[in-house]
Amino acid sequence: MQTVKLNNGTEMPMLGFGVFQVDDLVVCERAVGDAIETGYRLLDTAMTYNNEEAVGRAVRNSGIRRKEFFITTKVWISDAGYDRTLRAFDLSLKKLGLDYLDLYLVHMPLGDYYGAWRAMERLYKEGRIRAIGVSNFSPARLIDLSYNFETIPAVNQIELHIHCQREEELAAMRELGIQPEAWAPFAEGLKGTFSDPVLADIARKHGKTTAQVMLRWNIQRGVVVIPKSVHKERMVENFDIWDFSLDEEDMRRIATLDKGVPSMLDTEKPSEVRRLYGYLENPVLTSLK
Ligand code: NDP
Repeated sequence: MQTVKLNNGTEMPMLGFGVFQVDDLVVCERAVGDAIETGYRLLDTAMTYNNEEAVGRAVRNSGIRRKEFFITTKVWISDAGYDRTLRAFDLSLKKLGLDYLDLYLVHMPLGDYYGAWRAMERLYKEGRIRAIGVSNFSPARLIDLSYNFETIPAVNQIELHIHCQREEELAAMRELGIQPEAWAPFAEGLKGTFSDPVLADIARKHGKTTAQVMLRWNIQRGVVVIPKSVHKERMVENFDIWDFSLDEEDMRRIATLDKGVPSMLDTEKPSEVRRLYGYLENPVLTSLK
């Protein structure tokens, strides 16, 4: 597995496994078990996914040593703020059944994320998290954080796929030393990503699938990817991306597929911010208040 060294020296796998929208705990535990068996060691969950327990059980049942894994979870908007983040972290660890995290992310640039970041710096210094980062932060917000804190985020997990390529944002993150991580590397299959004719052509040329081309493309841009699937054969397919390389012409053709705007989440849109705050109605999260 190819890894990348984060700005604090921690090694992170370039390919991981995400479990967003796998709310059924039985399905989630089975899927994560299959992913581990396939070879995935980076596992990406979040407090809001309501499946941290299942991820933790699959890790424990695998019999593989804890230090082989790279486990990420995230603090939600309702738990932004210093004290709340400390409590949310303890609860996430308890649900996961772990005594440390590899990566803890501020899930959204909303709410008191300054307080959340102060708490995360403390947890990091106490050795309870190996690296701390953010998610869905624009370069402007990243620069703002970097002026106000000792610790620059190690990772920014953002929407990055063929229709939302964000080359300028990636350049800004590179300059700050922040590792980009792609959520929805397939754009969840929306707008026909899996059947895109340009990708299909490139896939044919390399004897691979369009899914494999999408993952390989992000990796060759230096981006960590965390595809999700509940089907083992797809997990295997998505893991099998290390025996080919896209050439300059392939990369140039894929660059033309960019639509220049996020297709799934825009935290600058008033309606999206309202929708995200709607998650506060989630009973699991309100029990934390
Ligand atoms: P993805 O882009 O990973 O797409 C997942 C979809 O693609 C599922 O419907 C899956 O179906 C399908 N799929 C997977 N592999 C294949 C394949 N080889 N061929 C055909 N179809 C395939 O979307 P996600 O939104 O799940 O993003 C990945 C991860 O990123 C999440 O699970 C989560 O961990 C993280 N994330 C983070 C966010 C954030 O705000 N920080 C927001 C969204 C996601 P099936 O499962 O049926 O196989």
